[in-house]
Amino acid sequence: MNLDEFKGVWVFIEQRDRGVAPVSLELLGAGRALADKRGVELAGILIGHNVKDLTNTLFQYGADKVYVYDAPIFSQYRTEPYMHAVVEACRKYKPEIMLYGATSTGKDLASAVATDLATGLTADCTMLDVDPETGLLEASRPAFGGNIMATILCKKHRPQMATVRPKVMKALAPEPGRRGQVVEEQITLTEDEVRTKVLEVVRETTKRPRLDEADIIVAGGKGLKDAEGFQLCYKLAEVLGASVGASRDAVEAGWIDHHHQIGQTGVTVTPKIYFAIGISGAIQHVVGMQNSELIIAINNDPNAPIFQTCHYGIVGDAFEVVPALIAAFKEA
Ligand code: FAD
Repeated sequence: MNLDEFKGVWVFIEQRDRGVAPVSLELLGAGRALADKRGVELAGILIGHNVKDLTNTLFQYGADKVYVYDAPIFSQYRTEPYMHAVVEACRKYKPEIMLYGATSTGKDLASAVATDLATGLTADCTMLDVDPETGLLEASRPAFGGNIMATILCKKHRPQMATVRPKVMKALAPEPGRRGQVVEEQITLTEDEVRTKVLEVVRETTKRPRLDEADIIVAGGKGLKDAEGFQLCYKLAEVLGASVGASRDAVEAGWIDHHHQIGQTGVTVTPKIYFAIGISGAIQHVVGMQNSELIIAINNDPNAPIFQTCHYGIVGDAFEVVPALIAAFKEA
């Protein structure tokens, strides 16, 4: 592999409901800084159906160029056609660095692309930089339960790829009127060749933001006793305009859907405020929420491990503390 052939920083643009996902705008901000350091172009790769009108937004947020794959085959996210598009584009244009949001779509796509291109992928990054001497991407992420930061290099393969946690990087202020180049592409794959079909899309009926984009999260655990007790989380969330999350034990008890599970085998979140109610603070939970700006724990066991992670801890019975908080917030 001739590494010198690979140039430019690319961002996979995630879109839904006719808008660009906030994490993709954040990655354009991070990608802009990397591209400027390398003295190369910043491009977005936008895949979907009827999505061309999103390109202007991408230019305003820092992209110089956008590769667009716009066809009915891309109307719902499916691994195969999306992977096919990204792999074809990477083989044709040879980007040096490729970034994805660490969302369920980004993680799924990036790992499939990495396998097909036989290149490396650093997952769940929280810092990105380029080494001024070697020009290599330095992709850093918390490791060993957040006790160290691991910086991972991809020395021999290209593109160098990373998924990046939402809400860690900063989007640039949009520059109205900023323009760039649109490159329209087509893939050779046909619908008959795709092995998966989307039969139905069931939308969650909630007005609350997605967990990975929420500013405030109220998360509940097994300490809330049963499904009725877990409703306390919804009541507190209602007052605060927050989203509701859960530990794995609460999910496994059937009190809330798996999409709300936070932790190693669930979502990673970084809200401004995180309430952990009746959650013990097992490491598998903590790795998914420890980067929250402010963590408030409510637990009746003063020795619960969550008190090692939180900024404020309330030792008490959730069934007394949470109603008192709700009443206080309502008054405020
Ligand atoms: P518990 O550990 O049972 O804690 C309940 C807490 O509630 C206790 O601290 C108790 O003191 C407190 N409590 C009880 N009554 C009250 C009351 N009235 N008021 C206030 N507090 C009260 N877990 C996750 O959360 N996310 C993951 O992604 C995840 N992935 C995992 C992956 C693997 C491979 C493994 C092995 C485990 C994983 N787990 C995960 C499970 C994890 O190890 C814990 O078992 C789980 O997080 C515990 O959930 P919990 O804190 O709700 O329950």
